[in-house]
Amino acid sequence: MKNKTILIVDDTIANLDVLVELLDEYDVIDATNGKDALEIVNEEEVDLILLDIMMPVMDGYEVCKRLKSNENTKEIPVIFITAKTDEESIAKAYDVGGSDYVRKPFLPKELLSRVKKELKLQDVIQELKLLALTDPLTKLYNRRFFIDASQAFLEMAKREKSPLSLLMIDIDKFKNINDIYGHQIGDEIIKLLANIMLEVQRKSDMSCRYGGEEFVVLLPQTSLKEAQYVAQKLKETVETSHFELTLKQKVTFTISVGVSTVNFKNEINIEKALKRADDALYKAKENGRNQIRTIK
Ligand SMILES: [Mg+2]
Repeated sequence: MKNKTILIVDDTIANLDVLVELLDEYDVIDATNGKDALEIVNEEEVDLILLDIMMPVMDGYEVCKRLKSNENTKEIPVIFITAKTDEESIAKAYDVGGSDYVRKPFLPKELLSRVKKELKLQDVIQELKLLALTDPLTKLYNRRFFIDASQAFLEMAKREKSPLSLLMIDIDKFKNINDIYGHQIGDEIIKLLANIMLEVQRKSDMSCRYGGEEFVVLLPQTSLKEAQYVAQKLKETVETSHFELTLKQKVTFTISVGVSTVNFKNEINIEKALKRADDALYKAKENGRNQIRTIK
């Protein structure tokens, strides 16, 4: 895992030196004033900020307020380190958005453990956020994420006047797989398809599990023709893959795919394009499965 980066802001150089040494297991950046600190957070990826309160020109409270009012920096936790010990100052530190407060002169071990605790908390929050957006079985994005992301992609495509395409994918005769081999193997097939999707998708494509054995891929900056190509590659990769039940017994499966592209004249949301992809998928099923269909 990438080393965490801590930004230390203090106008007293001697304090900076002590802290840099104490935190030597992390990547540390230091700044002696608030202005520099605000510039650094815009350029570097910072995981935590240790912030002095009493500094000339811009005090720590003001720095923290500005960090918290900026979309890009508001999530970075701030621990205040200061000689101010009156109740009002401490209350203000929390009011402006500080996560924690350490009194100067600080006890090195205490400071270190507070830093660790704060970083750990951030990791847990990140994990929870990711958990809310992904499907536990396949680790693909879930339907909720798809709905939000597709709207954002649509806005972007409109702004940039670039095409946005969709694939709707369904495992053929999935019920048969479950009936013959059991649900556990059914889950394995779903996982196998998810892995194939991740392997075949291009860097900016987003693969989502839409429902049971139904998947959607969002393809930004992709024309209908290019989307058909991606679908074709997916279908062929699935055909040549299998799940190994035993050394002798292999479970194979196929998929049907519906392809559509957003029509910017009519579409204010993604639903119509999704409906066309779904209709196309239905046609593919009707026509005998294991094929790709498109509705313009
Ligand atoms: Mg100071």
